[in-house]
Amino acid sequence: MAFTLSRGGNNITAEVQRWQYFLLRRSITQVGKIDGEFGLKTEEATKIFQLQQQLAVNGKVNTGTLSAAKVLGYTILPNNYYTQRNSINWPAPPSDLSSPTSSWRNSKFGCFKFVQKALQFRDRKERIVIRGACAGSVADWIQRNIIEFESSAFSLADGFRGSFRVHAKAREALEELLLQWKNADLLHLVISYAGAFDPRYIFGHNPGNGAQPELKSTEASKLSNHAFGSAFDINAIQNWIGEVPAVCGSKGSVRELVAGANAAGFFWGGHFGGGRIDGMHFELAH
Ligand SMILES: [Zn+2]
Repeated sequence: MAFTLSRGGNNITAEVQRWQYFLLRRSITQVGKIDGEFGLKTEEATKIFQLQQQLAVNGKVNTGTLSAAKVLGYTILPNNYYTQRNSINWPAPPSDLSSPTSSWRNSKFGCFKFVQKALQFRDRKERIVIRGACAGSVADWIQRNIIEFESSAFSLADGFRGSFRVHAKAREALEELLLQWKNADLLHLVISYAGAFDPRYIFGHNPGNGAQPELKSTEASKLSNHAFGSAFDINAIQNWIGEVPAVCGSKGSVRELVAGANAAGFFWGGHFGGGRIDGMHFELAH
């Protein structure tokens, strides 16, 4: 028995996301957006799919409908898939990867000089203003290093505008991560996107409310990896900083994405220690 779905049924939210993603990929836009909720729109879109496939039209994702979908590439999971993965400790942290050190990211992405304006001139307390490279004559570190990497991978996710703003040297690994997620048929899990490059300290860090003098990125250990353009955030609402990330199978869970991210060299913020858990966050780690 595969995971059947219906309005009012005992649905697994991640499977509703999978179904909604499948219908959207087949241009059945009546389903609306991927929200994991099997409501009237999803029911109506299911009927359209059933009509197209010459199935009995009842708006329920039953075994007959799933069989027709499977022929079209829909993934059918084993019955015990979610019960094997519903622990808050799943997945285990990778043994061969950890959050990057400050020296690693500075050598990989390049040291930059930055200042911080007085608090009333920042749009958030962690904001910094990046200037030039620490060495040489590059006057604008951002212009030299940060690129717009166009991709359709997250085209169905809320807040995605068609490209990732990342460091040029993070692009290849990000492409690999997206390929991993696509090949594992996991892109239905990405329901919203909250950005990549973002010049700032880590969440909550503010060295002072006054204007801060110029520093080099090698001198500041509390900079976010977003400031180097080597991190991005997804499904923020369900995986807020400091909170237990959504468990596998529930709305907005990113846990199934971790293995592919790790394989591409990205560390998951849900594996941060020291009370800084950040389940929306993925960062390039080697
Ligand atoms: Zn982040």
